[in-house]
Amino acid sequence: MKILVIGSGKSGLSAALLAVRKGHSVFLTELNSSAETPELTQKLEENGIGYEFGKNSLEDLGQYDLCITSPGVPPNAPIIKELEYLKIQIISEIEFAYLNLSAKVKIIGITGTNGKTTTATLMAHIIAHSGRSVKLVGNVGLPMAEVADSVTEDDILVVELSSYQLDRIDKFRPDVAVIMNITEDHLSYHGSYEQYTKAKWKITSNQIADNLLVLNCDDEILSSIIDKKPQVSGGEILETKAKIGFISLDSSKINTIGVSQENGNIVYRSQQQKEEIMPTNNVPLYGEHNLYNTFATVIAAKYLQIRNEDIRDAVASFKGVQHRLEVVRDLHGVRFINDSKATNVNSSWYALNSFDENIVWIAGGLLSGNDYSILSELVESKVKYLICFGEEKNRLFDKFSGKVKCFLANNLIEATQEAAVAAKPGDTVLLSPACKSFDEFVNFEHRGDVFKQVVNSFV
Ligand code: ADP
Repeated sequence: MKILVIGSGKSGLSAALLAVRKGHSVFLTELNSSAETPELTQKLEENGIGYEFGKNSLEDLGQYDLCITSPGVPPNAPIIKELEYLKIQIISEIEFAYLNLSAKVKIIGITGTNGKTTTATLMAHIIAHSGRSVKLVGNVGLPMAEVADSVTEDDILVVELSSYQLDRIDKFRPDVAVIMNITEDHLSYHGSYEQYTKAKWKITSNQIADNLLVLNCDDEILSSIIDKKPQVSGGEILETKAKIGFISLDSSKINTIGVSQENGNIVYRSQQQKEEIMPTNNVPLYGEHNLYNTFATVIAAKYLQIRNEDIRDAVASFKGVQHRLEVVRDLHGVRFINDSKATNVNSSWYALNSFDENIVWIAGGLLSGNDYSILSELVESKVKYLICFGEEKNRLFDKFSGKVKCFLANNLIEATQEAAVAAKPGDTVLLSPACKSFDEFVNFEHRGDVFKQVVNSFV
């Protein structure tokens, strides 16, 4: 086959290399000229992959049998429009990887607006703990195309899926599909809430009766889909052939298969039985949102017939994922938490909600026009001192300085030093910026690393 790959990022390159390994002829097109590096072009040439950088040529597209596109390519890009006009099939790297799996493996697919990486990482940790072979792929870990043609029947794939990747699947069928939540995000790509919801729902589109679809019934959008209310999906009733497993903080909402909490325990319920898995306070991760993440992994682990003891030990020993409410250290009774991944207001809401009062909150970053109103109540009840930094610092200061004591720092290092000086034993210093990081840092990981470095330098 002649295959066109759009995008030279990790997943595009992996898809191109997989296509070559499968004997196809491949051409890679990348609009961004700065993506062209000597290492990349050498790799492409070594593998006989033709390429162009800085443009997406629209001539001769009719020669291709298939196109694999990357997550960042917008659906209205001229090259996509032209391929659609020519009726050339366009799929995502996940779909291509799925079509080229070297063995029939079990697949756990995880999507949602928030919590994907945490849930997928915990899921892989539980499976590994039970002694089975697991590969964590997708948005987190390796691209699925990198491992697709070397898996064996004993492997289990845990796949973190963004709505971009789901938008372009055709046959992909996970044994367990998890949708954590659906909140407004990425609307500029998908065009509308309805489209975004439909893209997430595609995770179950090929599932069959033996498969499991895990839904958070406390999520507003998901619960209206469960109740078959069509308004969230543009008038369509979204359905599934899979068994549905529910997760909820409220056990009365679970009447078939599901995981919830009862009397301080995580409880799994199926048609036949009810089992206590472990005390909720043995979950080492902070916050209600992490209970949802844990519940989702418990129900998937039960589907995989992992023993309760293994689930319990694995959950209790999970260290969390870096930059997501990560405990950096306890120093003189002050707890330092790195939540640098909180790049939007919604994530910081969950972060502030996860701790008792006495929070010294460090926030700010790229100028954004964020609306911080949803945080007001939590800030008033829990935050004793707000330290603002980055381009957004004046907007944060203006919003909250009438309510709590605020400080304007010149940068994150100064903000962290000020927090350490101000914090008293029993306080929590929380970096949860609610903003993107690009004004001062390469990315959120870089921002979190700088914070941790400063915190670890304190004596
Ligand atoms: P994703 O991969 O979907 O971006 P992460 O696990 O990386 O999700 O978490 C992103 C941010 O959202 C972090 O700040 C984290 O604390 C918060 N978060 C994690 N799980 C959830 C959840 N279930 N609901 C809401 N927010 C969450």
